[in-house]
Amino acid sequence: MTISILCIDDSRVSRTFIKKGLKTIFNENNLTIEEASNAFDALDMCQNKTYDFITLDLTMPDMNGYEFLTTLKKKDIKQKIIVLTGDIQPLAKKTVMELGASGYLGKPFENEPMIKLLKKIGII
Ligand SMILES: [Mg+2]
Repeated sequence: MTISILCIDDSRVSRTFIKKGLKTIFNENNLTIEEASNAFDALDMCQNKTYDFITLDLTMPDMNGYEFLTTLKKKDIKQKIIVLTGDIQPLAKKTVMELGASGYLGKPFENEPMIKLLKKIGII
């Protein structure tokens, strides 16, 4: 079975690190990782396809991660979303979970908490 992931982050460097990290968790042959450098592109992609899960950056120009989650909720688009952010704050975590995110991890993520979260939300 192929796992399909959408990585949303305005930083190309971050996307590269996230992809590299995910490839250490999943078998690369069974992994498809699509990328979006902004939330508008991501929104289009989410409307056309349900991913196994999505990684979402919070700090992005034009439409940030909170606004992206709010828009998905408004449009009733269901996706499993793991927020990956450099700035870990209890309030941010509470907010994104209320907006429908499945989980929240610091960036760069460590494998152990990521695997734990992926198990919790039924990906692995
Ligand atoms: Mg960013």
